[in-house]
Amino acid sequence: MCPVYLDNNATTMVAPEVREAMLPLLGEEYGNPSSMHGLGGRSGLLLEQARQKIAAGLGCAPDEIIFTSCGTEGDNTAIFSALESQPDKKHLITTRIEHPAVLNVAKHYERKGYDVTYLSVDSDGRFDLDQYRAAFRPDTALVSVMYANNESGVISPIEEMVAIAKDNGVLFHTDAVQAVGKIPIDLKKLPVDYLVLSGHKIHGPKGIGAMFLRRNTPFRPFMLGGHQEQGRRGGTENLPGIVGIGAAMELAVKHIGDENSRVRGMRDRLEKGLMAAIPDSIINGDPAIRLPNTLSIAFKYIEGEAMLLMLDRFGICASSGSACTSGSLEPSHVLRAMGVPFTYAHGSLRFSLSVYNTEEDIDLVLKELPPIISRLRQMSPFRRGDEGLDWVDDHDN
Ligand SMILES: *Cc1c(COP(=O)(O)O)cnc(C)c1O
Repeated sequence: MCPVYLDNNATTMVAPEVREAMLPLLGEEYGNPSSMHGLGGRSGLLLEQARQKIAAGLGCAPDEIIFTSCGTEGDNTAIFSALESQPDKKHLITTRIEHPAVLNVAKHYERKGYDVTYLSVDSDGRFDLDQYRAAFRPDTALVSVMYANNESGVISPIEEMVAIAKDNGVLFHTDAVQAVGKIPIDLKKLPVDYLVLSGHKIHGPKGIGAMFLRRNTPFRPFMLGGHQEQGRRGGTENLPGIVGIGAAMELAVKHIGDENSRVRGMRDRLEKGLMAAIPDSIINGDPAIRLPNTLSIAFKYIEGEAMLLMLDRFGICASSGSACTSGSLEPSHVLRAMGVPFTYAHGSLRFSLSVYNTEEDIDLVLKELPPIISRLRQMSPFRRGDEGLDWVDDHDN
């Protein structure tokens, strides 16, 4: 069965145009861009064309783009650069809802003696800008705040947060892995110092990322080696990946209107339909400030994993709001940071759409999910009131 793929915040299908662009690199175009012959020269040209495509998509100069192996490497490199280049500044501001690619770097520096402020969010996933303003110290080296959250889809007030950091003379990094291709980004108007993206979240291949490094921003290579990427990232370039992420960015720019109209419309129809059909359901994250493709929805008294397995039988791919830590299923750190009630947090599902979804995909979920929920609620160990839907509420928090 052709799967109904609604897990695009986890990874995306490689677009046919991207695959086409990459194929010559897996065939006759195997040159090393550093070589002094024609074959290498052609590779070098493809490398620079891809760089131009990324730069055009973000509104920056090509020499401000560095190719990396993934989003994780970009996040690591940005934080490493900012902290290692200002050794006398030992304070970092980040948030409780970052991706592990940022959170685990922050924890690493905490173990090395740094102070880290983790900004909290309210139940709608929003930051408190007063808490943020109060977090700055004379020894703050960097602010690292994600552009949009991968689970809730909530978009951060990046413009305001960058402006406040600049008022304090502090460098700013944003993990924009989930924002690129879904909402317009213009680095001419957004004075961040470091911005990170990943190929496989924008219909490009896995194992390739890029980072924006604003001119005259402190930088320390994370990967020491050859002179590639102007000495900023050693290692022979991943040409198939680089050509792939370039083609994916070009396509993302073309599709951004569709993403914000048709994809948003399908997401909204899915949300309204599920909320109407399934009692005791809530939306995680402020609906007004979300990515157009993301719906995080929680159903009381259900295990997310059970729903996923049953949806999978209908060829529907989604993801739950839990992470398997040390053998037990815990609600994710993002849902915990938002204070989603216990009885709901376990029953969270994330649907993340793309331009390759159709109205039929949404129809299928709206048809199959409500009976799945009813069946699971019949089997739920939680006690039930007389009317059948009146669940005894003794497990909240
Ligand atoms: C997927 C993701 C990453 C990691 O990107 P990789 O290319 O898989 O390393 C980082 N941040 C966010 C928000 C993501 O969704």
